[in-house]
Amino acid sequence: MSTVSDYFGSLVFDDRAMRASLSADVYASLRKTIDEGSELDIGVANAVAEAMKNWAVAKGATHFTHWFQPLTGITAEKHDSFISPSPDGSVIMEFSGKELIKGEPDASSFPSGGLRATFEARGYTAWDPTSYAFIKGKTLCIPTAFCSYGGHALDKKTPLLRSMEALSKQALRILRLFGNDTAKRVVSSVGPEQEYFLVTKEMYDKRPDLRFTGRTLFGAKPPKGQELDDHYFGVIKPTVAAFMEDLNDELWKLGILAKTEHNEVAPAQHELAPIYATTNVATDHNQLTMEIMQKVAAKHGLVCLLHEKPFAGVNGSGKHNNWSIATDGGQNLLSPGDTPYENAQFLLFLCAVIKAVDDYQDLLRIAVATAGNDHRLGANEAPPAVISIFLGDELNAVLEAIETDTPYKGAEKTQMKLGVDVLPKFNRDATDRNRTSPFAFTGNKFEFRMLGSSNSIACANIMLNAAVAESLRIYADRLESADDFESALHEMIKKTIKDHKRIIFNGNGYDDAWIEEATQKRGLLNYRTTADCMPHLMDKKNVDMLTSLGVFSVDELRSRRDIMLENYCKTVVIEANTMVDMARTQIAPAVEAYAASVAASAAAKRAVVPELACSYEAGLVKKLSALVDDISGKTDELEGALLKLHEAGDAVEESAAIRDTLLPKMSELRVPCDTAEVLTAKSCWPFPTYADLLFGVK
Ligand code: ADP
Ligand code: MG
Repeated sequence: MSTVSDYFGSLVFDDRAMRASLSADVYASLRKTIDEGSELDIGVANAVAEAMKNWAVAKGATHFTHWFQPLTGITAEKHDSFISPSPDGSVIMEFSGKELIKGEPDASSFPSGGLRATFEARGYTAWDPTSYAFIKGKTLCIPTAFCSYGGHALDKKTPLLRSMEALSKQALRILRLFGNDTAKRVVSSVGPEQEYFLVTKEMYDKRPDLRFTGRTLFGAKPPKGQELDDHYFGVIKPTVAAFMEDLNDELWKLGILAKTEHNEVAPAQHELAPIYATTNVATDHNQLTMEIMQKVAAKHGLVCLLHEKPFAGVNGSGKHNNWSIATDGGQNLLSPGDTPYENAQFLLFLCAVIKAVDDYQDLLRIAVATAGNDHRLGANEAPPAVISIFLGDELNAVLEAIETDTPYKGAEKTQMKLGVDVLPKFNRDATDRNRTSPFAFTGNKFEFRMLGSSNSIACANIMLNAAVAESLRIYADRLESADDFESALHEMIKKTIKDHKRIIFNGNGYDDAWIEEATQKRGLLNYRTTADCMPHLMDKKNVDMLTSLGVFSVDELRSRRDIMLENYCKTVVIEANTMVDMARTQIAPAVEAYAASVAASAAAKRAVVPELACSYEAGLVKKLSALVDDISGKTDELEGALLKLHEAGDAVEESAAIRDTLLPKMSELRVPCDTAEVLTAKSCWPFPTYADLLFGVK
């Protein structure tokens, strides 16, 4: 292996590998399935399976797995070896089309939110030919969808593929109206920027909170944090550089277009951005990226933290979902064009997004809701929980001109009339302001910035694709029946701007005044926590939209709401239990022991010099003793709150109780513990501090 281009994608059964190993006929029919979604017959599947196996075995693979994304948020795999016995006692390596297409993992312990219980006992996995198979270790991984026997989706890929289909269908209707007869599909693409922290494995192992929950539950503010902004884009430390180099190699071998890497705002925080890909592939790649980050970190004596908020008071980690839609011919539909017609089409797609985001603010919020991300949204480092769109001054002025039928300064004609004027090219706003917007237009794509670092990007893109498909469906219905296309189009764009301009906000999204304006004056939603937003998944308008587009069934939605809420509850309960344990068995004893040693030292000094006042020791012992009492009392209270959770009737009630009682009690317990930390000798503190963790990687 020498240059990157030699080994890029070497572990992927990609187009090159297919072309090289399949007959022309088989290749052509597989390509048709991949590009157009046409059905694959078993003869072709057998030939593909054989070629895939030979390719994988030649690269050292011994097993295959259907790789899928259950609702746990991570990926799952069950390995089967290729071996099959021969009569002479030897083995041959076998893999059939049937094994490629369909698998039956014993999936009874994956969350199904009651779906499997209601319908059937097991689930099955089905090959997704639109995402290439790849080799991980000694295993050929086949990307698959995971469904119940009744066809209910038990994973994130199935609804994502459905949402892409819905978007393609509706967008094509619009394109036909604009005279495009050649496009066969419209695809959504995503480039997810991934943030993460690196800490040393040695320190990580000493912190039960990091090990059990992925975030620190205690920890006083370090003397130096991110105040100086000296970490952002700063020089990369040698250990981190070595990690990144290794990570890139691993990702490149898997055909993942890792492109940009840099230090982030917080100390020990970094970012990786790939070049964008089709949403489905980008989702698989992002899941793989997160997995490989952890694996490569371990090789370098590091742990990669993907939690949204590993350190209180320090920036958390998010994921920026750069999203656009394009035809199979490569025309980006969110890019203003060169002709008036293309511009009108661009404005219509832009309006579809504006309407979608306004109508389905709640679904976008729900799509990023986790216990971890709740700590991040609205914490002066990430967008608030209120969703708004940033368009930039230029585009904003264009929309205003259309809405009010007034001249637009950028256009030559006196009045902005669609189908007549050529719009100026919109360059991404060079200013920094739009960094605070949850949903920013950046020239030819939208950047949805509310995703948490550990979220699967599937959820956000399912909702985004579906909501935009719905806007387009409504537009297409109207335009297809219009007598005068151009005036109907003009009126519709005007109406969208009028009806939905409340969602457009070009100011500072981190400002408290904005939250007030957004919620009080504009009537935008502000669901601060997962417990607040998740029940709204089942609101009628949401259920109607998602079911009518065929993205989810009602049962699937209900099961997802329950699983997400259960996940929220379990996550916080584990955190609370970990806090109780650490406070009781590590923090209180450490403070107590230190107080005793200070007292003993005062007594020892007095034994030598009886007239010594020892006021320093006396004062400290007093403070520490009071803190131990406080810690102990608050630990008991937290434990009491945990016990009371059993009284909740269902996941909705339990999550509300967690929001209203458990989380506040956790914050209360943290206060005396963090105060004690800065009063206790470092040598007595039972685990590494924030300063150790954040500045520990060399
Ligand atoms: P930044 O936001 O850090 O300034 P860029 O704007 O260059 O960086 O790109 C951020 C991400 O957006 C990258 O992953 C890039 O591949 C992706 N991206 C660029 N163009 C598109 C597009 N048309 N659709 C989706 N993602 C895109
Ligand atoms: Mg960005």
